Amino acid sequence: MSDPALDLLRRIFGHPGFRGEQAQIVEQVTSGGDALVLMPTGGGKSLCYQLPALLREGCGLVVSPLIALMQDQVEGLRQLGVRAAYLNSTLDAASAADIERQLLAGELDLLYVAPERLLTARFLSLLERARIALFAIDEAHCVSQWGHDFRPEYRQLTVLHERWPDIPRIALTATADAPTRREIAERLNLEDARQFVSSFDRPNLRYRVVHKDGGGVRQLLDFLHGHRGESGIVYAFSRKRVESVAEQLQASGIDALPYHAGMDASIRAANQRRFLQQDGIVMVATIAFGMGIDKPDVRFVAHVDLPKSIEGYYQETGRAGRDGEAAEVWLSYGLGDVVNLRQLIQQGEAGEERKRLELGKLDALLGYCESTQCRRQALLGWFGEPHAGACGNCDNCLDPPRSWDGTEAARKALSCVYRTGQRFGAGHIIDVLRGASTDKVQQWGHDRLSTWGIGSDLDAQQWRGVFRQLVASGLLEADVEHHGALRLTVASGPVLRGERELRFRHEAPKPARGRKSRGT
Ligand code: ADP
Ligand code: ZN
Repeated sequence: MSDPALDLLRRIFGHPGFRGEQAQIVEQVTSGGDALVLMPTGGGKSLCYQLPALLREGCGLVVSPLIALMQDQVEGLRQLGVRAAYLNSTLDAASAADIERQLLAGELDLLYVAPERLLTARFLSLLERARIALFAIDEAHCVSQWGHDFRPEYRQLTVLHERWPDIPRIALTATADAPTRREIAERLNLEDARQFVSSFDRPNLRYRVVHKDGGGVRQLLDFLHGHRGESGIVYAFSRKRVESVAEQLQASGIDALPYHAGMDASIRAANQRRFLQQDGIVMVATIAFGMGIDKPDVRFVAHVDLPKSIEGYYQETGRAGRDGEAAEVWLSYGLGDVVNLRQLIQQGEAGEERKRLELGKLDALLGYCESTQCRRQALLGWFGEPHAGACGNCDNCLDPPRSWDGTEAARKALSCVYRTGQRFGAGHIIDVLRGASTDKVQQWGHDRLSTWGIGSDLDAQQWRGVFRQLVASGLLEADVEHHGALRLTVASGPVLRGERELRFRHEAPKPARGRKSRGT
């Protein structure tokens, strides 16, 4: 019996089988039904619309707000021989016209479009003349004003359903709690769509984070001592660092191999082969290693340096324990890592918006590292999935760190974000909390707010830690388009109302006692 979807999956994409609910989702959309898909980053969302687009007649239209991702996807698809293209503001008029011609001529399998472009009267009437296989709405949480990625144009995407009621639509996101999910379904007219919600939880992974002592290699060796003879991956920040860590591990008698994009391709391939085929190899690698590596019995993933974001961390650690057996993920971080990564981002070639986004992500990851909360609860919270905490399988649960009651500090912080109108970054809000009289404070009259000066018991650095942890656990969101302005989330309510307690790691000393706080 041949299954055309499975056949394409193997033939074009080279994967042996479907993951999670991919098969059901592909079936739903290919047969003409609507779908709302929630899947973690790295879960394999793209195939959920790419395969139906190839299986149905016509071109699959993919709405995507992120130009960089659009280009990466199209590049990858073309390499697989799929006829894919994108239309966005980076194209000149002639190239855009050529792609429109290909669309009308039925020469495209997939077309990625920015929402503002799709919604122009001109493009919509062009679509009337094209054959459309499906509409995929990527990053569907952009329709929600609660999210940090709110895009007003997403609200107008209902026009697709109105004008093409018979063409299936699939909306996808990696970030959506239940209220956001409801909002997506409502705003996109997808109430009747079948919902596919994957959990982000990996219960067999044990999470650990340690503060780096020197270069962190001695701590790494201690960690590896508990995993003798097992296969695992050690991620390091740079190629140089990969080489040096691999050498140090080898010198300690560990079967370690290096892997990074700067190595001779044949050595790299040989190392990868050994890792896949032999037991007990420790691959020391940059993040170049891992894409498409599907080794089920990876027993640990260690980050000897800080990764770039919680999403990246989740994805890299996700390579451990795919067989469902217990596996351990370990991360060591230090201030030097933060400095390195900040520099890397700031000196990069990305635009300002992208840089702000990346800096914000780094901050959230740092907040995760510093958190005293159950790691699983924090990670899942970042992806909008509620978890009761006390998982019993992370360092903070197994060995609770010294911490202080941050409930009051968190309430002050959230309340100050609210009172200042949810349009400022942490720097200004901390000034207001600490009762500073900067020009900005005076200009906005923030010294007249009830929250002005209620936080003078903590210093600015301690407040930064508080804000990082609030962002990291999804209690605040940074709005990338508005200079990192902090906004409340649906999860902020219980903290503001005093219904949820929070604890912060002891590095930030307890606030001085006896100070009366003014109404928060
Ligand atoms: P998402 O969009 O959900 O973040 P992607 O669609 O980019 O995830 O997929 C993440 C990675 O998983 C990609 O490298 C992709 O090739 C791989 N992948 C997706 N589906 C499968 C599958 N069925 N088998 C093996 N690898 C897969
Ligand atoms: Zn836990």
